[in-house]
Amino acid sequence: MNLLIVGGAGYIGSHAVRLLLDAGHTVTVYDNLSRGHRQAVPDGMLVEGELSDRNTLVGVLKEKNIDAVMHFAAFALVNESVNDPALYYRNNVIAAVDLLDAMREANVKKIVFSSTTATYGEPEVIPIAETTLQQPINPYGFTKLVFEQALADYAAAYGFGYAALRYFNAAGARPDGTIGEDHDPETHLIPIVLQVALGQRKHITVFGDDYATPDGTCIRDYIHVDDLGAAHLAALERLESGKGICVNLGTGRGTSVREIIDACRDVTGHAIPEVMGERRAGDPPELVADASLAKQWLDWTPKYTDVRQIVETAWRWHQNHPNGYASN
Ligand code: UDP
Repeated sequence: MNLLIVGGAGYIGSHAVRLLLDAGHTVTVYDNLSRGHRQAVPDGMLVEGELSDRNTLVGVLKEKNIDAVMHFAAFALVNESVNDPALYYRNNVIAAVDLLDAMREANVKKIVFSSTTATYGEPEVIPIAETTLQQPINPYGFTKLVFEQALADYAAAYGFGYAALRYFNAAGARPDGTIGEDHDPETHLIPIVLQVALGQRKHITVFGDDYATPDGTCIRDYIHVDDLGAAHLAALERLESGKGICVNLGTGRGTSVREIIDACRDVTGHAIPEVMGERRAGDPPELVADASLAKQWLDWTPKYTDVRQIVETAWRWHQNHPNGYASN
């Protein structure tokens, strides 16, 4: 297929691009590089542009004869969304609807969308199934939920076919160490812990150890970024006009902050000092996927079943690129 990967210069998008190319698809990346990296995109594939630039976007969709779009171009930081919701509603809702309308104009109606566990808020029942009531607790989660609804409405009215893939905690890097996670500022647990191992930070601050979990630290479902990419490939093959599906992408296994730090110690051989800090606002104690729908609908299971394997791939990237893409 001819695919337009919106946000393909970002962390998850750039990994998906590699897998789509490996599978024989033709890829064009559309990205404004506000958060992504030019070096993360293979040569000759990047079109720089805004989602709100209808002419450029429609031009690319038509000229490249695009069959389907993958949308990875949303902002994804909870704290930022609380402090600057306008940024989130503009980019994650308004610009994303601009994308759908450009697709309508170009008569491209298949889309795979990166949604999130943040649409569930703080669910009481773990593991989280897709039928769990979606009650976001921050603007980030709301913007993703609003766009899921837009997709459902566009499917019903205009015949869009979509998959909204609700990611749990994306982690790791392409195993060959060529691309990986590079955020500024970095807020995610695994890269921060590995930056401590590299000597770039003095310690990791654990955001609370008084949660109602076995070791008191928060539990998340860490999923390798290539497993996410593989699920996108599978979803692409199953898109049907006028229909949509929302699917959790997680491993079904929970790992605590403390277990992640220990895994990083094992993998890197560094002591990795830790400091106990306050809880971070808006952190649910436990988020773990019921991944059975993904298995059933996508015939997909994650290949990385041990967080150590995930950390190993991330460590390779961080060692090769201590300053991220600026190291190239
Ligand atoms: N965390 C932490 N210290 C840090 C960064 C994260 O203790 O410096 C914790 C955070 O409170 C959460 C988990 O690690 O429980 C995963 O956080 P991350 O930001 O990576 O992902 P999130 O689950 O927020 O999407």
